[in-house]
Amino acid sequence: MTCFLCKGNMSASTTTYMEDLGNSIIIIKNVPCNKCNQCGEITYSGTTIKQLESIIDKLKNSLTEVAIVNYSNNVA
Ligand SMILES: [Zn+2]
Repeated sequence: MTCFLCKGNMSASTTTYMEDLGNSIIIIKNVPCNKCNQCGEITYSGTTIKQLESIIDKLKNSLTEVAIVNYSNNVA
């Protein structure tokens, strides 16, 4: 896999995903991703994006202002 920005090499890594919903912030740790060795650009697989969406969906109904979760604990 090559980076779509700089054509550098991408390698498997993990990152912290943050979503600002206005009145609350969701932080998801240890999200699997591909990271460019050259420019640091991060891409997620389709499966990961779907998982992120379902985690956010579950959390956005909670009244917590800041939710910090671990990706691996929230994937069925
Ligand atoms: Zn790059």
